[in-house]
Amino acid sequence: MKEFNTDVLIVGSGLVGLVAAHSLSNLNYKVTLIDKKNFNNPKKVFGDTRTVAVSEGSKNFLESLSLWSYIKNNAEPVKTIKVYDRSSSNKILFNNQIKNKKLGYVVENKKFSKILVNQLKKYKKTNIHYDFDLIDIKFEKGYSRAFSKKNIINSKIIIAADGKNSQIRTIVGTKIFKKKYNESALVLNFVHEKKLNNTAFEIFYKTGPLAILPMKSPKGISQSSVIWSNSEKFLKKLTSCESIFIRSFMEEKIGKIVGSIYKINSIQIFPLSAHINESFINQRLIYVGDAAHSIHPIAGQGWNLGINDVKNLYEISQKNTTDIGSDSFCQTYNDNSYHKAFQLFQLTDKLNSHFIKPGNLYRLLSNIGVGFVEKNQSLKNQITKYAMGV
Ligand SMILES: Cc1cc2nc3c(=O)[nH]c(=O)nc-3n(C[C@H](O)[C@H](O)[C@H](O)COP(=O)(O)OP(=O)(O)OC[C@H]3O[C@@H](n4cnc5c(N)ncnc54)[C@H](O)[C@@H]3O)c2cc1C
Repeated sequence: MKEFNTDVLIVGSGLVGLVAAHSLSNLNYKVTLIDKKNFNNPKKVFGDTRTVAVSEGSKNFLESLSLWSYIKNNAEPVKTIKVYDRSSSNKILFNNQIKNKKLGYVVENKKFSKILVNQLKKYKKTNIHYDFDLIDIKFEKGYSRAFSKKNIINSKIIIAADGKNSQIRTIVGTKIFKKKYNESALVLNFVHEKKLNNTAFEIFYKTGPLAILPMKSPKGISQSSVIWSNSEKFLKKLTSCESIFIRSFMEEKIGKIVGSIYKINSIQIFPLSAHINESFINQRLIYVGDAAHSIHPIAGQGWNLGINDVKNLYEISQKNTTDIGSDSFCQTYNDNSYHKAFQLFQLTDKLNSHFIKPGNLYRLLSNIGVGFVEKNQSLKNQITKYAMGV
């Protein structure tokens, strides 16, 4: 059995764990990042075909960590968002109101992750261990211990970034409030005819919202990602069809916007659920990202919320250099992060159920609501600023 000491142990090298590793390495902590998967195996790294819509607020934070300059060449800026209520006559147009700011930046998860891993190498005190099979966690006076079959890692604090099915929650017994949706999300990346000119689209169908995000592409090629919430049964049936059928089916749905669909690059289904932990802390342990909260992707804010956790962690660590895992440190983190996460958890849940529930209330609100928002510039500005995370 080998035993290691580190200041900070981060469990999970997803897009939130990696940014947490950057932020604390940047403050000169000795950081150890572990993951149960082996991301040196390229098949595992490239398994996730999703994109993330980075908000202006998250981009600013990445900039402060000197990371944005490496990401921006892979990021497609979004300048306008068009929201349709099924019919193109009923739409809301969100434009960016703040000079030189965008509504978001679409980045492919796999490229994002690769850049973050590469850039982490510049921190000599930071280490990544893959294939780490965490089996237990214990808290001692002044430090915590993480056990695998072969190793023990002692640290001042454990940062749980192990995703929405967090094993750490089970090990230490943190309870959650969970919401199961009878929906999944189809993520379809494809090459198409029409240029989107930095515009993202969200169409609210009765069965669930469909978003089209423009992706960074080589010159002369238009590439986008569709994220479509629908029943799992329907999506499984659709994806089991021949590519030529899927293309013509999608052209019927979104052809007005994207034109002909030339090629489908990838297609994946993600079951949807949401949760929030009863607390984001447990002794010398804090939860960040999806390990703390997962939300419906309707507003494309899940990762951005995780970055808000990391930003809080970074700011508290900057001020508190004495004991990074102390009770007061963890409590301040919980106080600063929980409220916003709870609000967004509620908001995305309500937004989703409002738009998919059939019946009078649905029809009334969706018809009056969309038109009302479109006419109300100050409300539009507020929603825009919220989406931008500024
Ligand atoms: C269809 C869809 C579209 C989305 N689009 C957007 C968007 O546009 N914008 C946005 O902000 N958010 C979006 N999200 C949400 C976003 O994808 C997640 O919030 C984000 O990826 C969570 O990152 P994470 O690092 O917290 O967790 P994860 O990405 O789940 O990473 C967890 C990591 O922990 C590792 N791990 C798990 N268990 C262990 C263990 N026991 N020991 C060690 N390691 C472990 C895993 O291998 C993994 O590497 C979307 C979500 C979905 C489903």
